[in-house]
Amino acid sequence: MIQTIRGFRDILPEETPMWQKIETIAAEIFRNFGFQEIRIPIMEKTELFARSIGEATDIVEKEMYTFPDRKGDKLTLRPEATASIVRSYIQHKMYAADPVRKFYTVGPMFRRERPQKGRYRQFYQIDAEVFGIASPYIDAQLIQILNELFKRLGLSGLKAHINSLGCPECRPGFQKALLEFLSARKDVLCDNCLRRMEKNPLRTLDCKVPACRKALEGAPTTLNHLCPDCSTHFDTVQSTLKAQNVEFVVDNTLVRGLDYYSRTAFEILTTALGAQSAVAGGGRYDALVQELGGPQIPAIGFAIGFDRLVHIVEQLEQEKPKDGPDLFLVALGDKAMENCHLWLSQLNLSGLKAEMDYSGKSLKSLMKRADKRNARNVLIVGDEEIKTDALVLRNMETRTQTTISMDDPVAEITKLISNI
Ligand code: ATP
Ligand code: MG
Repeated sequence: MIQTIRGFRDILPEETPMWQKIETIAAEIFRNFGFQEIRIPIMEKTELFARSIGEATDIVEKEMYTFPDRKGDKLTLRPEATASIVRSYIQHKMYAADPVRKFYTVGPMFRRERPQKGRYRQFYQIDAEVFGIASPYIDAQLIQILNELFKRLGLSGLKAHINSLGCPECRPGFQKALLEFLSARKDVLCDNCLRRMEKNPLRTLDCKVPACRKALEGAPTTLNHLCPDCSTHFDTVQSTLKAQNVEFVVDNTLVRGLDYYSRTAFEILTTALGAQSAVAGGGRYDALVQELGGPQIPAIGFAIGFDRLVHIVEQLEQEKPKDGPDLFLVALGDKAMENCHLWLSQLNLSGLKAEMDYSGKSLKSLMKRADKRNARNVLIVGDEEIKTDALVLRNMETRTQTTISMDDPVAEITKLISNI
């Protein structure tokens, strides 16, 4: 019997609804933030990836599916989407009318690496790119979009790791310091790192060999070498994320596996798939459009590992009780608690599976509990809602809200919920 190629897999009919759900939510967020969908080819000239991703990277050195076609042209199955989108942006002179463009794309990527859970040779990415905006607010916006997507999927505990890789102005100073540091440790570095030292010393910081990791402890960081402009840029990214309540940590060891990044780089890490791995990664690449033959136009983007995201959401769903309550009452404050308790009894007696929490905790932690209990609906009752006679009934599946009056909430809720 002929089976799939190693590292390639079928996504079976039982699994596709989850893929569709995530894609729909992502498309909605992208639309809200002004992104348009773009679809790019699955194959490109090898040169495109070699030049953009960089010769001394894992992807180009050992992961690409490259082959000559019948006429001998060197072709490669795309290992990522950014290079193709940049090529398309330049090829169609999309910058001519207005350099500011925001794109997203969803589709398969190909990398020949060792398959394991969450790592495949054909895998899928949800990718976003913004052209023509140099402002740090856009860096924060992209991280916020990732945060929003994960939030809408009910994921918590994912944190953005951010770093700044500097620019052509400050990179040489950093590289010099790093080279000095590496030269003093040449005898313990792996062969790969010795080669990287020549070609692109930054890559050594990404080495997974334990001896190299140890030797690189205390290595110079890009953050200590940022020029004033890069420094201000990175400060604004951070203050904006804070103002928007997006959780992040500054991680000065984050360098990313592609050469084209400058300034802000970020990854969203999770331990949900065993060892810590990234569900998404991205960064600014202000020089790439020009390097690939276009005008000097700044850009930034990210890629989400779609397969990994599906695994995480599926895992979360499995942990939830199968038959959660029809309704979870979130009572905020004493008055609300009293009201909710009385309504709860009536609802239970009328045959509805309703629950509440008596701990008096915050809205955020009660919403978390409702989610964990897998409640289909949540009624939010606080002093403000009672005062304004506007209780909030939220459908946790469709994420839609209805306002309920205090007149006869039990009747109204029963009617609404049994209709769903
Ligand atoms: P890793 O360090 O896990 O190899 P990466 O830095 O090579 O990731 P990126 O090039 O940043 O990955 O791609 C963006 C996202 O695509 C990653 O964060 C990850 O979620 C996903 N991804 C990358 N390679 C694979 C793969 N082989 N299989 C499944 N998902 C992948
Ligand atoms: Mg990789």
